[in-house]
Amino acid sequence: MAKITIFRHACKGVESCGICSFVCPKDLFRTSEEMNEAGYLPPEIDDESECTVCENCMIYCPDLAIVVEKESEATSDNEDSEAPRGPVETGSPLRSDKARGNRAKASKDE
Ligand code: SF4
Ligand code: SF4
Repeated sequence: MAKITIFRHACKGVESCGICSFVCPKDLFRTSEEMNEAGYLPPEIDDESECTVCENCMIYCPDLAIVVEKESEATSDNEDSEAPRGPVETGSPLRSDKARGNRAKASKDE
């Protein structure tokens, strides 16, 4: 089971970007009806239970507005039980630091 956190304030809108929706193999994203503070319509997830934790949305979002966590990550360090994953870190060190910051914030918000 996945926990997907969308940082609505960081998103530049599904209409002008929509990469998360494009790369999701399960087509789980839909456009929110509520604007964020910047006037954009961020994505929402239809059904988190359908998520395969492929992390595509988190990896490809240019604004680091999505964090995907496998729910067991918060409670266990057992790497053996994790499903195979796609590519993880692709960006610059700065991008990686920011992504880690968003992950930490997502964990705190639980
Ligand atoms: S992790 Fe993969 S399956 Fe889950 S919402 Fe993101 S792109 Fe879709
Ligand atoms: S990829 Fe990121 S910035 Fe683009 S619509 Fe999705 S959440 Fe917003």
